[in-house]
Amino acid sequence: MKITAIVLAGGAGTRAGFPKNKLLIKTGALTPLELSVSAFLREDISEIVVVLSPIDKAEGERLLGHIPNLVLVQGGETRTQSVKNALAAATGDIVLIHDGARPFVTDKIISDCIESVLDFGTGICSLPATDTFVLAENERITSVPERSALYSVQTPQGFFTEDIKKAYDKIENETFTDDSSVYAQFIAKPRLFTGDICNRKLTYAEDFTLSGDRIGFGTDTHAFGAERFYVTLCGVEIPSASGLIAHSDGDVALHALMDAMLSAAGLRDIGYYFPDTDSRYRGASSMNMLRYVNKLLQNEGFCVKNASISIQAERPKMKNYIVKMKENVATLLKLPPSAVGIAAGTNEGLGYVGEGKGITVNATVLLKAISK
Ligand code: MG
Repeated sequence: MKITAIVLAGGAGTRAGFPKNKLLIKTGALTPLELSVSAFLREDISEIVVVLSPIDKAEGERLLGHIPNLVLVQGGETRTQSVKNALAAATGDIVLIHDGARPFVTDKIISDCIESVLDFGTGICSLPATDTFVLAENERITSVPERSALYSVQTPQGFFTEDIKKAYDKIENETFTDDSSVYAQFIAKPRLFTGDICNRKLTYAEDFTLSGDRIGFGTDTHAFGAERFYVTLCGVEIPSASGLIAHSDGDVALHALMDAMLSAAGLRDIGYYFPDTDSRYRGASSMNMLRYVNKLLQNEGFCVKNASISIQAERPKMKNYIVKMKENVATLLKLPPSAVGIAAGTNEGLGYVGEGKGITVNATVLLKAISK
């Protein structure tokens, strides 16, 4: 049995209020289109047909061109025409038709959909209604259907290709919002299987900012020994008997933080962006480096939600500087001070930290996706 996945992404998505197709708006590292399509990269699916409108074709090719067995198909004026175009290109015995605006479809849903088609001829992803639905006219409730008989219908929806093609050929002027209703009208009663609440549809702009949280961890160590009477931590010069040896200003706390940020975004580490072989970074301000790293993140579609920094140092005493350190980081990252946590502790005399040879800092951050 050869299986084709069809991903519908030809709509304009005007409800999201974006200037272009909502599925091509980068939220986090990937666009919803890339997420929806890559969900079907499985051994049991032999081709993926993606429907895009002509204006999105070039961008679709750029984003998806590397995917093997991908077929790009031009969308039609209506949903019906788009599905017809996709079905004409599908070579599988089974088709799974999926709405590109559901990027969180799971492996299990896809497997259940295929299994339902094999066992029952169709598989319609759905969830039992949890809200009460009513029928109304002129803002007056006219009837309240029994909730236990109500389901919300999602995608993917799976069919034998021949059957769903037959159903689509019978459409004259009727309008359908999904494939199960086309099948129900012209072929038979399709079978529901239970989906997952995470398989929600991205519709409004705010839906796009809920996805894509990322966590990151960074660590850095610098040794004492520079002829300087302060150490720089989070942009604050703290009096110290000796400075930290470094190519830059040696702000070990910000170095750990930047690595956490870059790591969360799936980027390279700070050594890659600010090589210590480059004389431009001699004595460089780590606050300026942080500003640059934050821009890199924004280009990837992320901003920091909160940051947590843990400093291990036997000396110097930092207690009186923590507030200013927090403020520096928060201001630069445009966060409230409460979103930046800084802890400083000694190592109880143990190891290189305890012997006062150096300072180690660990940092974690949470990034959230921003829509551009
Ligand atoms: Mg460093």
